[in-house]
Amino acid sequence: MKKTIAVLITAFLVATSLTGVSANAQESVIQLGFPIVFNAMPTDTTSIIYDNLHYVPMRSFCEMMGAVVFYRERDRQIMVLTRDGDIIAHTVGESSFTVNGEQKLINRPSLLDNNTTYMPVDMISAVFYPDRIWYETQHFMVQKQLSNTDYHKRIQDVLAVSKNSNFYPERFQRYINFHVNQPSYTMQEVLYRVNLGLDFPFYSNVTIIGQPYELLVLVNKYHQLPSNFQQYHLVTMSRAYTANDGRQYLLAGVAYENYAKMADAAKQAGLSMRVVSAYRTESYQRNLYNNKVRSTGKINADNYSARPGFSEHQTGLAVDINSTKGSFQYTAEFRWLQQHAHEYGFIMRYPKGKEWITGYSYEPWHYRYVGTDAATIIHNEGITYEEYYAKYVSVNEFR
Ligand SMILES: [Zn+2]
Repeated sequence: MKKTIAVLITAFLVATSLTGVSANAQESVIQLGFPIVFNAMPTDTTSIIYDNLHYVPMRSFCEMMGAVVFYRERDRQIMVLTRDGDIIAHTVGESSFTVNGEQKLINRPSLLDNNTTYMPVDMISAVFYPDRIWYETQHFMVQKQLSNTDYHKRIQDVLAVSKNSNFYPERFQRYINFHVNQPSYTMQEVLYRVNLGLDFPFYSNVTIIGQPYELLVLVNKYHQLPSNFQQYHLVTMSRAYTANDGRQYLLAGVAYENYAKMADAAKQAGLSMRVVSAYRTESYQRNLYNNKVRSTGKINADNYSARPGFSEHQTGLAVDINSTKGSFQYTAEFRWLQQHAHEYGFIMRYPKGKEWITGYSYEPWHYRYVGTDAATIIHNEGITYEEYYAKYVSVNEFR
């Protein structure tokens, strides 16, 4: 069987400016290669030959080796999770790939033909470390002793849930490590906790927030605002809505607009809501945190006060209402907020019983503006913003 792939090769040349593709590539043809035999067992996978080199269909070959394959349409990235726990990333048509982030080069780029990606034979060795690859009586022979240690069983547990919608292939090794270290959790709990970042202690594995001006920005003990961050669309709150203690209170415009509606509605119900803390600069937050550490110790300070760069107040989207004392939870204003805050796009950010997710003690007074769509889901499902973010905002592009 011979067929020409002239159009395809030309497309690769234009699209990726590949080096190493010969000038007469347009005349090259793909020939059917040999049936693949794995550990002495025939498979229904066959190699192809292009320009005198064997290639194997990547997906079926990887699956034959016990790996799970993902694809990201946007940039044609293939991600392979191996039964040895490695993460292989490769972009279709390129002559390199990474193993656990480390780049490796191959002699030829991978080929795309008829919606199938073929990898050159030298890539197989670098990915799977087979014991032996050879050709014998028109067959493509692969031999590899499959390990079955306890560790490999844990990897199998993770691979078994890898097609769940909340499985992120780039977190493969974090799932494995968490599963190994916390064997009492179910696999669903493993995925859930790692997706919330809880496989790392608070204030470690910190990501600098890339889009700090987004309404749905997540600021917590794993997501830090950039050091030069400054909210710019701030407005001064009317004294009718603040503690009216002579201080100036600022909020992001959209949060203020909706806070005012909420406070007006509460007033109609005979209640009084006044903001006692709104926007804070990073240096203000630093003083606040340092004072708390001095007066109550670091552990207690971390339960109640954010470190500079980690406070939602720096976004101008958060408010503390009436009091920062636990007794606020027994007020009529608090009960009203429990029922109505989401209608104005606000959520109670640090609820009781979810301290292990948020990293903060119960703060009945702290509200965050996220918009009514998000707030309504969070209210109805009784979840934290971290859980909402993992479930609805975080994008899983690999299929
Ligand atoms: Zn607060």
